[in-house]
Amino acid sequence: MAALRLLLLAGTAEARQLAAALGGQPGIRVTASLAGATRMPEPLGVATRIGGFGGRAAFAEYLCRERVGAVLDATHPFAAAMSHRSAQVCAELGVAYAQVLRPAWRPHEGDCWEFLNTEADAQKHIPPGSTVFLATGRQTLGRFGDLSGRKVHARLTDPPSGPFPFEDGGWVVDRPPFGLDDEIRTFQRLRVDWLVVKNSGGSSSRAKLDAARALGLPVAMIRRPLQPEGPKLETVAAALTWARRHG
Ligand code: NAP
Repeated sequence: MAALRLLLLAGTAEARQLAAALGGQPGIRVTASLAGATRMPEPLGVATRIGGFGGRAAFAEYLCRERVGAVLDATHPFAAAMSHRSAQVCAELGVAYAQVLRPAWRPHEGDCWEFLNTEADAQKHIPPGSTVFLATGRQTLGRFGDLSGRKVHARLTDPPSGPFPFEDGGWVVDRPPFGLDDEIRTFQRLRVDWLVVKNSGGSSSRAKLDAARALGLPVAMIRRPLQPEGPKLETVAAALTWARRHG
């Protein structure tokens, strides 16, 4: 029987673990796909294509041309456009689809979180005079709008390609993973008094929340976008079971 051609939509720690586990899996031929958002990404250890597909029709065409039998969507919970489109196109083409979606973070005793619907709400919660650390990534900085009167530190994985978009503050260029002690040191060094975070969930990037709790910092937590209909796999183990069932 021909091997299942599985497209792994990547861009997360879970995708990396799935690529490692599925790479040598008999009966499955996996190709990973990265959007190309990170320069010089660490290799995934499986065949990898990099860059957008070129829109919905081109994505559908790719699935047909490559005879993809299953799409495992391990994109980030905030990559909602890609997830909605993938779920819809797979349903139309009769390709198996499942989303690897880690549970959202929830506050625990000692946390001081304010929930935001969008980045634009940050200015309502964070008073002028604050020093703010944006751990939300490069692509959505333009959505914060006017943060004048606040000192803003925005963390990036790659060196910036444009001017700093806020009145006061600067870039913090650093590549994850960040441990609890790293995060505490960074927040103390920069005298941060507000942290802004996307509700990504999972363990690989939660040290910043533990650091905020340890330092008593308030957190502005951006809620997740609506996710597509379709099966949700909360763990890498569940995703592997799903892939093997289709292989
Ligand atoms: P998005 O808004 O949902 O998608 C925008 C476009 O990026 C898509 O239309 C598609 O372009 C392309 N794309 C997204 N994921 C892709 C993938 N895995 N392979 C090939 N093309 C992909 O996505 P985003 O929020 O910009 O995120 C881009 C990537 O960064 C995702 O893979 C995501 O996992 C990762 N990421 C995102 C965040 C975040 O906070 N959004 C955080 C960490 C990592 P075409 O229409 O040309 O096919």
